[in-house]
Amino acid sequence: MMNKRIFKAKRVANADVSGWLDDHAVIVEDGVITAVEPSSNVSSARDSYEIFDLGDVSLLPGLIDAHSHMHCSATYDAQSLALSENDQQLTIRATNNMRKAVLAGTTTIRDLGSRNEVAFTVRQMINDRHVPGPRLLLAGTPITITAGHCWFFGTEADTEAQVRTAVRTQVKLGANVIKMMATGGMFTPTANPRTPQYSVEVMKAAVEEAHRMNVPIVTHTLSAQGVRNVVEAGVDQLIHARWYHADPNKGLDYTPDTVKKMVDQGQWVDPTIGHHLLGVEAKQRGEVGPMDPHWAVSFKVVPEEEHLDKLTKMHDAGVRFTTGLDMGMAYGTHDRSAANAWAFVESLGWSNWKAINASTAGTAEALGLVKQVGSIQEGMIADLAAFAGDPAQNIRDMDQASTVVQSGRLLKLSDTVLV
Ligand SMILES: [Zn+2]
Repeated sequence: MMNKRIFKAKRVANADVSGWLDDHAVIVEDGVITAVEPSSNVSSARDSYEIFDLGDVSLLPGLIDAHSHMHCSATYDAQSLALSENDQQLTIRATNNMRKAVLAGTTTIRDLGSRNEVAFTVRQMINDRHVPGPRLLLAGTPITITAGHCWFFGTEADTEAQVRTAVRTQVKLGANVIKMMATGGMFTPTANPRTPQYSVEVMKAAVEEAHRMNVPIVTHTLSAQGVRNVVEAGVDQLIHARWYHADPNKGLDYTPDTVKKMVDQGQWVDPTIGHHLLGVEAKQRGEVGPMDPHWAVSFKVVPEEEHLDKLTKMHDAGVRFTTGLDMGMAYGTHDRSAANAWAFVESLGWSNWKAINASTAGTAEALGLVKQVGSIQEGMIADLAAFAGDPAQNIRDMDQASTVVQSGRLLKLSDTVLV
């Protein structure tokens, strides 16, 4: 028998995710949205539908986050836990994290680096509905150099031949995207965030191999030379896109020509500023534990304003931004994807609707899912998140969803968890 439901709300996001439809009803049949119409016009022909009147809430498409590490703890000791925990511990942690994420209203997540044994298992169990969780696009393990960034849950590959094998292996396991650590990172004591990990030639081989197998490739990129390398190599998206100078006594090394090429090539960027915002707030609350500053960046601390200035320059030049909380890194808890939008508004000065759009339809486009999720209109999968208040007025009203619908299935209704 067909599963037929109607979700009514005082505010429903329009098809472009750019404004509200007042007092509208979303008609869902077998997990797909079949109509959006004024609540007062719902025809008596729909008498057999189950009706959920959500009342004075803001109904958005389920949020989409382009950057998670499902099994990382999001605590100040996330690094030592990731280094020491076994697959069983990480699997339980990942299962719990993915449950929290979807119950907060994030119905689609792209995981950009977790152990293969954990990531593919957790996705299978979510898809088989043994545990609740978001729709998952997976990279599986990130590809990194020996002792490189996140080697402890990555695939180590140094040479062009090794990198090609690593790409093929991830696709064979079921990866939807390839994640490469193009530079060192803050999370890894043996990696230098200020220098590239791969030459342009090796990066080009990875790009060629990923594209030959029809999957996109995205890169963790903190150093300026790393950014220039991956732009030259033609990767699909950049994560962080920070511009650290190779010399630890210097700050940033921004090159506008590289950004122009980035725009010409249509390369999206996940600026991970929601994660930075949560870190600053954790500090203000006195919750920051004994994290050691990384040896390679401790010489000269670059103020956050300088990073934001570079992000603004990139965005003004035409670079499009995805969400991407870097869930699992310190203070980036998996239930806080909404902080991406908070940071777009509060740190970059975007309008609330522009930030809401980026958190839904925009990132759906970046993930190649725009015909399936990211907006509330006929033909889309019924992924919905309702928030008390009005995020178009106050972006922080978008936080923990009170109602979550995934593929038409109710996971949470008016703050009551049903799964
Ligand atoms: Zn990450």
